[in-house]
Amino acid sequence: MTEPSIFTRIRTGEIPGEIVVDTGTVFAIRDINPQAPLHMLVIPKTEQYRDVTELAAGDPGLLADMVAVAKQIAAEHANGEYRLIFNNGPSVAQSVFHVHAHVLGNLEENKLVG
Ligand code: 5GP
Repeated sequence: MTEPSIFTRIRTGEIPGEIVVDTGTVFAIRDINPQAPLHMLVIPKTEQYRDVTELAAGDPGLLADMVAVAKQIAAEHANGEYRLIFNNGPSVAQSVFHVHAHVLGNLEENKLVG
């Protein structure tokens, strides 16, 4: 059996971390190394999908649940607007292979990168 992901270990309380949102299918935490004033991670409870490509093919409804939670976070912690980032593969900085969306908001500069 493979080890639970770092995100699952936070969700189950094995590693400390605040669960900001918890729905039936999805949860959200603050990123430990924020890249924007608002930077949260939205994560499905299942570890079945490594990245958004697999998730979109396997369970598009779960992907829609993630987007709904991102919208909720932006409404509660920003002005309702948000940037959603999925890293897909190590060469574009994916480091945790349990699909997750980065929700960024309250950005100081209107730039796509940096
Ligand atoms: P990736 O690079 O895979 O797209 O994103 C993984 C994210 O998880 C990174 O932004 C990283 O800062 C975050 N992260 C890694 N370990 C922890 C942790 O223990 N707690 C929290 N809250 N975030 C983490």
